[in-house]
Amino acid sequence: MEQKKRTVTRVEDGEKVKKTVKKAVEIEQAAEKEVKKVKKVETLTKAEEKSKATTLRIVSAILWAFAIGFEVLGILFLFKKLYLPWLPQMWAMIICIVLDLVCCVIAALLWKKASHLDPFKKTNNKLGFFILTQLGVIMAAICFIPLIVLVLASKDKLDKKSKIVVTVVAIVALLIAGLLGADFNPISAEEKAAAEQTLTGDVYWTAFGHKYHLYEDCSSLKNSATLYNGSVTAAIDNGRGEVCYFCANRAEKENNLDLTGINVEEGSAAELE
Ligand SMILES: [Zn+2]
Repeated sequence: MEQKKRTVTRVEDGEKVKKTVKKAVEIEQAAEKEVKKVKKVETLTKAEEKSKATTLRIVSAILWAFAIGFEVLGILFLFKKLYLPWLPQMWAMIICIVLDLVCCVIAALLWKKASHLDPFKKTNNKLGFFILTQLGVIMAAICFIPLIVLVLASKDKLDKKSKIVVTVVAIVALLIAGLLGADFNPISAEEKAAAEQTLTGDVYWTAFGHKYHLYEDCSSLKNSATLYNGSVTAAIDNGRGEVCYFCANRAEKENNLDLTGINVEEGSAAELE
């Protein structure tokens, strides 16, 4: 039955497929489908989501505090307030920057995870929503920029070569932390609620990416060996915040689904292979 639907899509795309070729494609797709593994993901209750999110946020805060601690240690090494006889100053600072980075990145990833489990409200609070969803970027700035500024401004604290090395390492760390900390697909409490209200059936997602699919036979899923499926709540909890562009179009056409208020992946005709 699902394969018949797929044929309909092809006709709409205006693609003429000869009968024999079509048959071959169908057989191939059927074979692919057999090897495709679908893993069921359980849905958390609202209370479970909230408590998990709270725990993650507390751990994030602690890790960010540690990150700032390592930054301060790095600054103390810079000003020679701290000194280890067996560890050159440059290496002591690099170790501090790396530990700072590790804490900062883990904190941001947990923070983003919490923002999907228990999203922030957006209505009447656009700035607050932006700050809270992009806290990973803000914290990355706090965890590295003061150190970078002090290293650049310092005179005679580091030799020329060490100064360059430490500055470059710290800037790279800042960029990594900023990129991994940014939430490129934030979801609000309102958007999650709208998705849960409209999309009552199962959805599908892959091991990577930030979108979920409404149809198991979506053409953009054909190369994925493993699929995850569950409620839209489970998809969003697992970091998939928006509906696939193709599935959204199909649902609007085939099922007359109104996707107002739901995050839909941005797409264009150019993406249609
Ligand atoms: Zn799709």
